[in-house]
Amino acid sequence: MALSFKHSSILLIIIFGLFIFISNSLKLDLNKNRLFELNKNENDINIINKNQNLIQKNIKNLNKVNNKIPTNQEQIYNEILIIVKKGQTFSKILDNISLKNEKKFQIIDSINKLFNLKKLKIGQKILFYLDNNKLIKKIKIEIDFKTDLVVRIDEEINSQIIQLETVYDNDSKEFLIKNSLYSDGKKNGIPDEILIKLIQLFSFDLDFQRDIIKDTSVSVSYQTIFVEDKSNSYFGDLDYAKISVKNNELEYFKFITNEGYTDYFNREGKNVKKSLLKTPLDGAKLSSNFGMRKHPILGYNKMHKGIDFAAPMGTPVYAGGNGVVEIAGRNGSYGKYIRIRHNNGYKTAYAHLSGFKKGISIGKRVNQGEVIGYVGSTGRSTGPHLHYEIIYQNKQINPMTLKLPSGKVLKNEELKRFEKNFREIYANHLNNLFE
Ligand SMILES: [Zn+2]
Repeated sequence: MALSFKHSSILLIIIFGLFIFISNSLKLDLNKNRLFELNKNENDINIINKNQNLIQKNIKNLNKVNNKIPTNQEQIYNEILIIVKKGQTFSKILDNISLKNEKKFQIIDSINKLFNLKKLKIGQKILFYLDNNKLIKKIKIEIDFKTDLVVRIDEEINSQIIQLETVYDNDSKEFLIKNSLYSDGKKNGIPDEILIKLIQLFSFDLDFQRDIIKDTSVSVSYQTIFVEDKSNSYFGDLDYAKISVKNNELEYFKFITNEGYTDYFNREGKNVKKSLLKTPLDGAKLSSNFGMRKHPILGYNKMHKGIDFAAPMGTPVYAGGNGVVEIAGRNGSYGKYIRIRHNNGYKTAYAHLSGFKKGISIGKRVNQGEVIGYVGSTGRSTGPHLHYEIIYQNKQINPMTLKLPSGKVLKNEELKRFEKNFREIYANHLNNLFE
């Protein structure tokens, strides 16, 4: 459709007016859904302007929709919004709304077939739609930002999962750090969700306290997501991120690997993340796994919060990842014990050691694979072994089932696919910045 700018502006204003007229005169979600359904059928595209108002592109479509909407709709809904509070179950929420018990159980039953109501989270939004006789006609549970569960209540109860229409776009920002990555990022209009992802991405490389200095430059590109019927903006993945610090450029591109994982790689195809070692010593045999077990000394069942590797006395033990020694000394039943703090919320601990490598003490920086101590049998131990723990946010996790970042290096076809991919991402990024 070749229209001059002036004409299309007038059209847009008319369309927008019509849109407001329709959504206001018929306060009916149903009708809004129909608008979108119709659009889907006709393969029309929704334009979403930066104010996040949804505007219909095609005036002819709107007229069609207008004709389709029954003018004497008797169902005028009143909306009640409930935000799930702590300790509030769906059943309790329904108690506050006049409903026959029988109906209540039918509703719960119908929902549970599609969505486990036990998974209802604090802060989750539930909308109740009542007709003029204060009867509930519809319930809408926002499962996530682009998924609704809708229950229609008449003689029959009907639940349905609805995937909302989404439109993805990209945004790019570039700035210098004056204060902190977070505060300057915010000042430059980067949303919280993206800043958190950015910090997580670079936490494998950077110690934000020490490494980031004034005038460090940051460049990012990220997905913005618009969802039908919603005024909030949502943000997806980081596509690109670069931090230039002390003549060192750390630059990563998003890539979906052959295995289907979304991960980040530099221009050479090397993965951003340096995985933690799952076995921090050579030639060891796994002798006790993570989980409940009968304790070999105490005799009763106890949670084993690490894994044991049987190995000869004196076998060198390696640092599981880059980090700073947090504890190196005697620690009760753990015997001689080392704990390393890594940058990204992870810690690793090493127990029953016979001794520490010379120079290993609190505050010492270690690199992955560096010898930190030696296998022993100190503390509550039946024989020489290493007790190894991976701790995430101060809780021990099972190192064997832990989905650690891959540390992968792309090769061959996958590398070629990545190279094509990152050039596109980079071109887009520059385009966004300088358009
Ligand atoms: Zn153990």
